[in-house]
Amino acid sequence: MSELPTLSTPISIATPTSQAEWQSLADQLSIEGRAYINGVYQWAGEGETFPCVSPVDGRELLQVASCGPADADQAVIAARSAFEQGIWSRLPPTKRKRVLIRFAELMEKHGDELALLETLDMGKPINHARTIDVPATARAIRWTAEAIDKVYGELAATPHDQIGMISREPMGVVAAIVPWNFPMIMASWKIAPALATGNSVILKPSEKSPLTAIRLAALAEEAGIPPGVFNVLPGYGHTVGKALALHMDVDCLVFTGSTNVAKQLMIYAGQSNMKRVWLEAGGKSPNIVFADAPDLKKAAAEAAGAIAFNQGEVCTAGSRLLVEESVRSEFIALVCDALTTWRPGHPLDPATTCGAIVDQAQLDRIIDYINIGQAEGARLVQGGKRLMEDTGGLFVEPTVFDGVLNPMRIATEEIFGPVLSVIGFHTADEAIAIANDSIYGLAAAVWTANLNTAHKVAKALRAGSVWINHYDGGDMTAPFGGFKQSGNGRDKSLHAFDKYTELKATWIALD
Ligand code: NAD
Repeated sequence: MSELPTLSTPISIATPTSQAEWQSLADQLSIEGRAYINGVYQWAGEGETFPCVSPVDGRELLQVASCGPADADQAVIAARSAFEQGIWSRLPPTKRKRVLIRFAELMEKHGDELALLETLDMGKPINHARTIDVPATARAIRWTAEAIDKVYGELAATPHDQIGMISREPMGVVAAIVPWNFPMIMASWKIAPALATGNSVILKPSEKSPLTAIRLAALAEEAGIPPGVFNVLPGYGHTVGKALALHMDVDCLVFTGSTNVAKQLMIYAGQSNMKRVWLEAGGKSPNIVFADAPDLKKAAAEAAGAIAFNQGEVCTAGSRLLVEESVRSEFIALVCDALTTWRPGHPLDPATTCGAIVDQAQLDRIIDYINIGQAEGARLVQGGKRLMEDTGGLFVEPTVFDGVLNPMRIATEEIFGPVLSVIGFHTADEAIAIANDSIYGLAAAVWTANLNTAHKVAKALRAGSVWINHYDGGDMTAPFGGFKQSGNGRDKSLHAFDKYTELKATWIALD
């Protein structure tokens, strides 16, 4: 690991600037669909595959390896063996840091390709994939790598003739099961701290978005991560995901996805080896706007972005918009106006801000909820229709419902699409009660110029992230995760290391 070779050549020298240029790059792409186990790309043991269909135009991109329990076994054996050999787990932190920083550099160097794969696979706008997903993924890896040789153990407050050392050790084999909405970013929040702390990792991407995870394996290898330390198993949740979750030799299971699957994973852990289970799950986040918000127009623009960014397929989407009654009509008009800048377009067009919905099942789910909202008596004020059907792609208009009551299904259930429920309130206490009346507790925002109201409401909100006078703030320095059924544990920041290490107390008696 002394002299590292130069980084591999990216697919494009200059970033494309038009839909036609991105399409031409897409046409030249050679996409890998195999699993990556013990340093080798290979098809699933049973030879099974599943089709990877692009929501951009409905075209099948390729067949991807559909891994099963035998592949999970093979990957766990490789991961365990690498861990026991110490080829990564016992490297000095500074060396793991160098390799991971190089991994981040390779992601940036191949950023156009990774962005293109993400867009083709799950439909997000290419400009967002390139300027948000790729940099955020590389930043997560780099930030975590930079931290790893700066964290220390502790000494207990012992009597004079004793020493109590408190140290952290890697868990061993970590399985990471991630969703499709931010495939690379969600993966990086798990693999960065898991690898940085010396674990071996098996990444299972969603069957709806496997392509970037598979590509990352080659970049990890090029960066110098040894065989067996980082493995990627594409496949379905009920096959390879379940096999990993039930595996007797997986020490730690980290997950981002729906609350229902999260609960199932806790059961699997209990049925197997009591592996540590860390869960980032769903949300139904309240965005609370008081009449004295410093700038109602800005609040409306962010409320629109909070439901339309990433097609509303965001765990922290501001899907419940609580507005003080005195400004409700005015504010809804501002939000509807702001949403016109989020009209869906072709995901490969660099001007597009709202792309395609990940697949037909998710589109059907969104349309179902729009119908449910109307049947429940909420008032559809904007959107509600599928768009651009003739392209073969899956697009839906950002949709606003007014007159929503918090017990309605569109206000209690996570839709995971661009459907906004507006709920009126009169007092801060009423807003807090409505906001907290949810099984979820992932995020919340409050808009007010009154310092007292801001702090009172922020303190009372039962959510892992609270934003004041903006929506969706934060970076790698702040922990991210949920209260209640939004999960346990935290991603990002130094707190993330807690999930991937066991605490050891070593007590020494002196003569
Ligand atoms: P999902 O729960 O359907 O799937 C997530 C992952 O779990 C996928 O890889 C899937 O294959 C796997 N899986 C499914 N069933 C499984 C099983 N029985 N055993 C093992 N693995 C299984 O979620 P999704 O539809 O991919 O993603 C959307 C959900 O993710 C939403 O609920 C969203 O709120 C949540 N999410 C949460 C966060 C967060 O940080 N809290 C971030 C992004 C997304």
